[in-house]
Amino acid sequence: MTRWVYAFGGGKADGRASLHEKLGGKGANLAEMSSLGLPVPPGMTIVTDACLHYYQHGRSFPDGLKAAVVEGLQRIEETTGRKFGAKARPLLLAVRSGSRVSMPGMMDTVLNIGLNDDTVAALAEDTGDARFAWDSYRRFIEMYGGVVMGLGQDVFEEILEDEKARLGRELDPDVTGEEWQAIVGRYKAMLAEDAGASFPEDPMAQLWGAVGAIFSSWMNPRAIAYRAMHNIPSEWGTAVNVQAMVFGNLGNSSATGVAFTRNPSTGARELYGEFLVNAQGEDVVAGIRTPQSITEAARIETGSDRPSLEKLMPEAFADFLAVCKRLEAHYKDMLDLEFTIERGKLWMLQARSGKRTARAALRIAVDMVDEGLISEADAVDRIDPSSLDQLLHPTIDPTARGDVIGQGLPASPGAATGEIVLTSEGAIAARKEGRKVILVRTETSPEDIHGMHAAQGILTTRGGMTSHAAVVARGMGLPCVCGAGSLRVDMRNRELVARGVKLREGDVISIDGSSGHVLQGAQPMLQPELSGDFERIMGWADRIRRMRVRTNAETPADARAARAFGAEGIGLCRTEHMFFEGDRIDVMREMIVAETVDERRAALAKLLPMQRADFAELFEIMHGTPVTIRLLDPPLHEFLPKAEDEIDEVASRIGMDPIEFRERIEALHEFNPMLGHRGCRLHISHPEIVEMQARAIFEAAVEAARKTGAPVVPEIMVPVVGLKTELDYVKARIDEVARSVIAESGLTIEYLVGTMIELPRAALRAHVIAEVAEFFSYGTNDLTQTTFGMSRDDASAFLPTYIQKGIIERDPFVNLDFDGVGELIRIAAERGRRTRPGLKLGICGEHGGDPVSIHFCEESGLDYVSCSPFRVPIAKLAAAQATIRVGRV
Ligand code: PEP
Ligand code: MG
Repeated sequence: MTRWVYAFGGGKADGRASLHEKLGGKGANLAEMSSLGLPVPPGMTIVTDACLHYYQHGRSFPDGLKAAVVEGLQRIEETTGRKFGAKARPLLLAVRSGSRVSMPGMMDTVLNIGLNDDTVAALAEDTGDARFAWDSYRRFIEMYGGVVMGLGQDVFEEILEDEKARLGRELDPDVTGEEWQAIVGRYKAMLAEDAGASFPEDPMAQLWGAVGAIFSSWMNPRAIAYRAMHNIPSEWGTAVNVQAMVFGNLGNSSATGVAFTRNPSTGARELYGEFLVNAQGEDVVAGIRTPQSITEAARIETGSDRPSLEKLMPEAFADFLAVCKRLEAHYKDMLDLEFTIERGKLWMLQARSGKRTARAALRIAVDMVDEGLISEADAVDRIDPSSLDQLLHPTIDPTARGDVIGQGLPASPGAATGEIVLTSEGAIAARKEGRKVILVRTETSPEDIHGMHAAQGILTTRGGMTSHAAVVARGMGLPCVCGAGSLRVDMRNRELVARGVKLREGDVISIDGSSGHVLQGAQPMLQPELSGDFERIMGWADRIRRMRVRTNAETPADARAARAFGAEGIGLCRTEHMFFEGDRIDVMREMIVAETVDERRAALAKLLPMQRADFAELFEIMHGTPVTIRLLDPPLHEFLPKAEDEIDEVASRIGMDPIEFRERIEALHEFNPMLGHRGCRLHISHPEIVEMQARAIFEAAVEAARKTGAPVVPEIMVPVVGLKTELDYVKARIDEVARSVIAESGLTIEYLVGTMIELPRAALRAHVIAEVAEFFSYGTNDLTQTTFGMSRDDASAFLPTYIQKGIIERDPFVNLDFDGVGELIRIAAERGRRTRPGLKLGICGEHGGDPVSIHFCEESGLDYVSCSPFRVPIAKLAAAQATIRVGRV
């Protein structure tokens, strides 16, 4: 029988952290903290399975859930000594969502459940604070009206503003208890008359209304969009946490706050957080009041004159510090905590692994190894490889004298330049037109997610390091400056007002998410330097990982960059890419359109010295590591001019009659160039091409070997092979040229000839092809194209729809399709190695830089992955993690 409810509180819990798939992240950690004896308001978690049942059965609750909740409620009543709905010491409940991974602000919450006309009086008596009781009641009606009854907040806002104006009250805290009571009366009258559904007085009805609303919020448009962006399956569902209320808004000895056990931006070992006196939790996250620092050190650093928690409530602070220590030692991780202090007593409301910048993640992992908390392998395992991208972001050159017009919090690192846009719609529209923008908002809300995604960076004028903008931007790896209080967004005039300057929408600004600076105009950027922490982690990853990491590079600049990042060779040099620039492309075109062998040989003779020089330089840069050079594989349409005037221009440059040139282009026209006369097919039609390339490679190898004094072992790779006979033919030409160059130079040259596996036939016939091929490199771009029968060039017309409609989960050109393409990879590996034990296997399609695909490569026993230079560190880390997770460490 399914267990629907797990209770916690009073130093005990039915659940634990490892049950997070059932209990959601929040519920699992509340259970864990409760078991540790930490002060957690008692409660219960309704499991994610109940949410799934809810959707599978016409939004109804499963049998047995009601009874389990009633039983859970009794346990909360026993632990608190209060009763739900009682006219004395009433128990009030909070109902919150909590999925397997955190989806900040995407789903709903209802607080103060259990209040009605009877219990509100009891709450007033109980707390000795009628104003608090009626204020809580009106907050409850607003929340319940919004979340459960589906009303807009403006209907409450209107009444509230009207009453405040009538009473002459400017701010909410000025409103008295009696006045709140009158406002509550008006709210309820409005609900009964206008909304046609009266507000339920029965606490049990309130509770079930709230639980259903939380389940429903799993499918609200915000949550759906967020899941799509973060690859979170909708089948996970959300759990619901029902918990006794504790109040951070019970006067000046109460407070609520959020904290990270270490600095989430830098990783420094210091408690880092913010709180608000006399406030409810949502007030901190909403970023509406600017919060105070928790520690005295942080207060001094930010120059605030408002007291820290450390000074204001020293006992609660000491309790909190002890909880932080205990939790870090228990979870062995940096944690993100939410707490409430009710009349001096500390309550923990949430603990979860804290989101952090890539820089902080490295620092924390390295520090925790030094502190003896975790092992080196743990440290390597917990860095998200893709997050290293953040470390490769540019920053603003500090020597540039930019005009700083504002200063905010350094919420998410990296610098960005763009035009000011003040709305998310504006950011999305600008993105469509290819313009770069900075989204500037007073504060952001979950509705802004799409706009944030479309922007280069985010700037807000209100809210702290834990505000929505800060948390979401860090998650997206987007530069963000938040809480820049000296700036003001003037929506009426569509301006950003700074001291002394008024900037309009469309004006260019720069932000630096590492310093918090906001600057006028575009700024010179600096490329980042990698930290000592980065090097230590990469050093550990290098020691752990089994697979080698090579790079896809053809220019000396790419090869140098990749070497600096630690590439262990070149896995793919696309020789056709060496002819994209300058006058080289014209020689290449001459070669392509040549009609006779002599004409082609003449063009090839011009290409030979260029190729030889390029290869010699690559061999020198990469000396001591393997270099795989792929024979020319030009889809012809990428090289021939298309526009009429361009055709004439090229014809005159290469000295050909324009009419004849046009005729040749027409004759070469292909309906499916991606499946056309490319790869080895070209070398079989025109063997003089492979002969020129082989000569360039061997002569360059001789040259480099003489220069560096070390032998060079080129790996020559033949593309688009489907038949063994194709490879036989091309290899024979290569071997022939090798013999000539050896004879001419008097030097022995070692070399390998291998093939790409990028056609299903090659994978299936791998045992035969391996009789000739000395290595395999999976070209998973073409292998994906040919396995799916989906053109690489045209798939973007329908793949997004496929993903949106759930036909396919992920873009197979980005994340390897393990089931189909992966099966072919496994087949080719197994059959190839059957013929040639120890056959070297690599991957050089785009998937070679994708962490999830790299994991698959480890499982399949590949020897190396090859990726673009900037992805080399990411691939190395992912490869080390794959080694750990596959259990080879
Ligand atoms: C491939 O097909 O995966 C590959 C690496 O080659 P290209 O992308 O150049 O076709
Ligand atoms: Mg290919």
